[in-house]
Order: sequence, then structure tokens, then C-alpha cells
Amino acid sequence: MAKITRKPAPRKAPVPKKQAKAAVAKPKAPAKKSLKAKSLKAMKPWTPPEVHEAFSRFRKANPEPKGELEHVNPFTLLVAVVLSAQATDAGVNKATRALFAIADTPQKMLDLGEERLREYIKTIGLYRTKAKNVIALSAKVLSEFGGEVPRTRAGIESLPGAGRKTANVVLNMAFGEHTMAVDTHVFRVGNRTGLAPGKTPLEVELGLEKVIPAEFMLHAHHWLILHGRYTCLARKPRCEVCLINDLCRWPEKTV
Ligand code: SF4
Repeated sequence: MAKITRKPAPRKAPVPKKQAKAAVAKPKAPAKKSLKAKSLKAMKPWTPPEVHEAFSRFRKANPEPKGELEHVNPFTLLVAVVLSAQATDAGVNKATRALFAIADTPQKMLDLGEERLREYIKTIGLYRTKAKNVIALSAKVLSEFGGEVPRTRAGIESLPGAGRKTANVVLNMAFGEHTMAVDTHVFRVGNRTGLAPGKTPLEVELGLEKVIPAEFMLHAHHWLILHGRYTCLARKPRCEVCLINDLCRWPEKTV
């Protein structure tokens, strides 16, 4: 009798560890982001009396809010804002106190020069690029704007290192215009509260400008920054002490 010989089963290629793990992994819960996006969408827009009430409370609590970036004139404000990108106000102030004591005009900044400027600001993130920008913007302010910080959005945005946010801060703080600079705090508060939900800083900026009455616009930027910095904190908002907790639309607020 002929002997039946079985063909050996083809050897399976070993499954890479990562793949094997993935095969048994539980299906992932829907990303938190999409849940958030849904709840933001479902938020009821604020009514004009509610917005008025919220800002009346901010005004009552802090009638003259001030920005925390130290400066002595529009030029030093401009420089401080350019230096503050991806840095804290406290960190910028620490460096600029000594700097502005010797260089508070575009000409003095140019006289100081990029190398020495770098020494003053080397504790601030991205200081090399920022030093280059500050020297270049000082030269441009001198050559194209007669040594004065321009009072227009287009003029400020044309300066090296200055974007829309810088223009909004300078126009508001130095020239009293009703602009709304959206930083990380204002972006979070605008979205969380439902005051002006938006996917980009520009959307939030335009949304806030649309809903906030003119009488509050001069200080609205600072009220919202301070609210985000000290009350509506990113990780653990302090809803229990929040001035506007009854008006806020955030579904996860803790009051
Ligand atoms: S109630 Fe809470 S989430 Fe809403 S604005 Fe106040 S601190 Fe922020």
C-alpha cells in the first residue's frame, strides 16, 4: 500500500507584535473631539440680554482691566507682543524690563543691534528669530512709518513678526480701537461658553465682535483673557467661582 504523505502546512509568517495587539484591541471609543464638537454645535446661542449681562458683571468686577505685558509706549508694546508668541507674559516681562530701560524706540533698538538684543531676550523661546524680527521691524518702522508704530491693521501686519493677533492687541491697547485679539484663553472661553464658537481664532474673533455690544468692546479682550487665565482654566475650570456660570453653555460645567 502506497504510503500517504501529507504535505506540511505552509508556515504562517509571524504576525508583528503591534499588529497582533491591534487585532484583539477593543474598538476605540469615538474621539473626544467629535463629542465636543457635537455638544458645541448643540449649544443654544446667547441672547443679546445674556451677553450684556455677562459683560456687565465683568465690568462691575474689574472696571479697568489691564493687559499683563509690560510696556512704556506703543513701540515697546509692539515689541512685547512680538516676543510673547508661544511664551508667557511673565517670561517676556522678565526679559523686557532691562531691555526697555535702554531701548524704548526703534532707533535705540537698532543701535543696540541684533547680537546684544539676543542677550536680553535669550530666556524667551525662539529668541533668535524674534531678535531678527525685532531689529527688522524697528528698521521698517523708521524707514516707512517715520519712527511711529502704524495705526492701521495693514501697517502693523506688514511688520516682520507681527500678525493679526499682534495688530489686534496694539490697535486695542495703544490706540483704543475695538479689536478682539484671540489668544489661547480667548479661543477657549469663546468656544466653551458658547459665546462665539469657532474652529479657528479668526472665526472666534469675528463671532465675538458680532455679539459683544460696542460699549464693552474696548475692554472685552482683557476681560476674556483674564477670565480664561484665572477662572475658566484649560484643565480644571473653576466653575464654582465663575461670574457667568449661570449663563455659560458648556455642558460639562460643574455648577
Ligand atoms: S461656568 Fe465653568 S466652563 Fe463656564 S465659563 Fe465659567 S468657568 Fe468656564
